[in-house]
Amino acid sequence: MKRAVDFLVLGAGIAGLRAALTLAKSGTVMVVAKEAGQESNTHYAQGGIAVAMGGDEDVALHLEDTLMAGDGLVFSPAAVALVEDGPLRVDELMEWGARFDREDGELMRTREGAHSLPRILHAFGDATGAEIGRALRAEALRHERIEMVEWRMARSLMVRDGRVVGADLLDHDGGTHRVLARATLLATGGAGQIYSETTNPAVATGDGIALALEAGAEVADMEFYQFHPTALNLPGVPRFLLSEALRGEGAELVNEAGERFMERYHPMLELAPRDVVARAIVRESRSADETNPQTIYLDMRRVRGVNLRERFPGISAFLARHGLSLAEDRIPVSPAAHYFMGGVRTDLHGRTTLSGLYAAGEVAATGVHGANRLASNSLLEGLVFGARAAEAMVADAPLCSGKVDGKDESVGQGFVEANDGASVRIADCVERLRRCMWRSFGLLREGAGMRRGADEVAAIAGELESMRAVETGGRAGNEAVGMARVARAMAASALAREESRGAHFRSDFPTKRVEFARVHTVFTESVGVRFTSFGEE
Ligand SMILES: Cc1cc2nc3c(=O)[nH]c(=O)nc-3n(C[C@H](O)[C@H](O)[C@H](O)COP(=O)(O)OP(=O)(O)OC[C@H]3O[C@@H](n4cnc5c(N)ncnc54)[C@H](O)[C@@H]3O)c2cc1C
Repeated sequence: MKRAVDFLVLGAGIAGLRAALTLAKSGTVMVVAKEAGQESNTHYAQGGIAVAMGGDEDVALHLEDTLMAGDGLVFSPAAVALVEDGPLRVDELMEWGARFDREDGELMRTREGAHSLPRILHAFGDATGAEIGRALRAEALRHERIEMVEWRMARSLMVRDGRVVGADLLDHDGGTHRVLARATLLATGGAGQIYSETTNPAVATGDGIALALEAGAEVADMEFYQFHPTALNLPGVPRFLLSEALRGEGAELVNEAGERFMERYHPMLELAPRDVVARAIVRESRSADETNPQTIYLDMRRVRGVNLRERFPGISAFLARHGLSLAEDRIPVSPAAHYFMGGVRTDLHGRTTLSGLYAAGEVAATGVHGANRLASNSLLEGLVFGARAAEAMVADAPLCSGKVDGKDESVGQGFVEANDGASVRIADCVERLRRCMWRSFGLLREGAGMRRGADEVAAIAGELESMRAVETGGRAGNEAVGMARVARAMAASALAREESRGAHFRSDFPTKRVEFARVHTVFTESVGVRFTSFGEE
């Protein structure tokens, strides 16, 4: 089946939906989601959205905190765009019906790690992302030019004469739908599933980055994955996120002896930047016995003046299902892969290095987060850069119009679902890949281990490629091939950066090196890794 729309948006999280609302003013929009509309990282965001709504001084402080957290690698024009556009985008969101928590009519604000003051708006306590997603979806559904398509996976981009002119979508029956568009936006979110330990839902397999790589676009900063310090650590239970806002409200980190330990690692204690807290937890857990790590706990039992069940209803309900309570128990925690700073390289308006292709939100690398994202800046990123990308798509679209109706190319049959044997082999490859990435490209990295990891990733990618030719198919096969593709780019970039900065920590190069300051890795499959400064090309 073949369709033509003006604008194709791949992804229905905060970035894709925000973009769609601007695009719909100028043409028809198809928004595609791999699962049900709400299933996305956006839906699970708990803590809130950082925004400086108190005027110039407030905005300047937000910028300062963002630059500081990014550890010398933030592309400052991107951060300026984020903090300056932010208040307008959040006001707009409230006009569309997003309800943030208020006290006596005033917006409530909380504080999270590395923020110099409380500036994080939240909704229904700890359900901020779900509320924002709900409001954006409701607004999009009211728009007659926006078509929402669920349970379809973009499996490849269509490139004609060097320009992206749409995508092939796979449905759950193995059918393929070709959608032609004047401009295509990647808003496919993160890639946490590449790691065996992650807070991300199953949809977050890095597809947009894989699609862009396959089409020949540049990706950047692929060595920078943020590991959230405090995911629930219970055997057999998913790594449920325990929001940083818990620490903002006074939660302490303690070891098995009940001793608060962060003072040994950073003066900001539990509210130090995420990478610092995450590494401190691992180090503390291994401090007595490297081979038999002790459990680390989040402890709120001494917090006074906050009704924890009311302030954190979602977290409290999840913990209750596992017999735990914030007010009465120490909660076992460990770090997990959480947010991808790297992604498809874009300018400040979502333009990738391929014409007709744009990217916004977690899938994109604008340089706004540098080497380490400031907590709660990513929902804001989705709003700000979703809107900016949409404006660029509209502005550039006349240049592209007319071409997409070109000759009717035949569409292949699409991947048929893998047979049982292939499904097992695909699942096995993915499990090995995820464990390898956690082991070799996780929180603590080191050259020899990374080289072994890179070899293993390449071997798994080879296995998947050879299977793909004859028998892989469906969503699982496509995701697996894409994950291996993304993992190879991550491995190459991590090996190339011979220093420690932000979320990228190497024990063989444990300090920052001046020659890597403001220098980003850029990767393409044809060239491999090169270094560049954003804004200078
Ligand atoms: C548990 C958790 C808590 C978080 N808490 C916060 C927080 O408090 N504050 C904050 O700022 N950030 C938080 N984050 C990060 C933030 O939620 C994300 O960075 C942000 O929501 C990403 O938005 P997005 O629109 O880029 O992608 P997403 O919201 O992940 O949306 C991606 C969309 O792309 C679709 N998709 C993926 N692949 C394909 C494909 N091949 N074809 C078609 N569609 C596809 C998915 O179905 C989905 O609709 C949290 C993240 C998690 C996981």
